[in-house]
Amino acid sequence: MTSKKVLRRKKGDTMSNSPLITYTQLAPASNTWGKRTAKITKITPHHAAGVLSVESLCNIFSNPSRGASANYCIGNDGRIGLVVEESNTAGTSSNYENDNQAITIEVSNCENGGQWRVSDAAYNALIDLCVDICKRNGIAQLNFTGDANGNLTAHRMFASTDCPGYYLYSKFPQIAQTVNERLQEDKPMTAEEKQAFNTLQSQVQSLINENTELKKKYNDLFEQVGVKWAYIDANLPQWATPTIDKLYNNEILQGNDQGSLELSYQFLRTLVILDRAGCFGNTWDISETAENGMKKANEMGIMDNEDPQRVVSRAQMAAVATRIVDKLSK
Ligand SMILES: [Zn+2]
Repeated sequence: MTSKKVLRRKKGDTMSNSPLITYTQLAPASNTWGKRTAKITKITPHHAAGVLSVESLCNIFSNPSRGASANYCIGNDGRIGLVVEESNTAGTSSNYENDNQAITIEVSNCENGGQWRVSDAAYNALIDLCVDICKRNGIAQLNFTGDANGNLTAHRMFASTDCPGYYLYSKFPQIAQTVNERLQEDKPMTAEEKQAFNTLQSQVQSLINENTELKKKYNDLFEQVGVKWAYIDANLPQWATPTIDKLYNNEILQGNDQGSLELSYQFLRTLVILDRAGCFGNTWDISETAENGMKKANEMGIMDNEDPQRVVSRAQMAAVATRIVDKLSK
């Protein structure tokens, strides 16, 4: 891209710098390409080829004799310093076109030579800074393509240099992935997503309500038909005890293999109603006293020895009364 278009900024709409900086030492204009004229769309991390503090790095790149700079420096302990404001184009990557579109970052190593590793603190600070740069400048995501077509670029793509060193360069795909994941996490919901989220929320709420209603119905139903009583004891409702006693004593009600009678409220009601309707007969209802009375009446010849449960007709009743009068008049 060879656009010469000057980035026009509205009044007050100035490029910002990262709030993550804890140190500032600005480089003279002679160390930079001058005012930035392109939109910030790229990030170019470099390595310092040395183990340095943020103060030392900022000091090196703000020295007029250096003739080079970076927008930010990250010291070995992970602190971040500002050397060239984002509104200016730092001279870092031996390529004006790249630097004009990129924020450049010098990262301290934690070893001299070898793989030129960087500390975890410096690496994590680089990730944080990249996420911040993307957010403030509207960079949707970082793409590492291995060449200058991506927007995560490296010094070695433009000049014969090992920069950013074996270790940091090997991390470029991971840097892009981590930064993109963070951007995705922090992305505020769009109006559509918010609406979908609200719809989902109300759907979940109505499912919860429905579930509560179903639970209540189930509990009501269980109260009516669920097995509540297994044995004849004090828990059994008083109104049902005589009927259940009677059925159990006469082995009509026997319970299951475990001896549980499996009684529900509705079942108790049904049995009691049937009992009151006489469905189970009343032979076993006769108390010992009543049984003795019947026996005596039979012996006395007042009543015949028929079924004591049978309904008595008027004629039979008259016969019985006559027999009593006869007995009394003798
Ligand atoms: Zn470099």
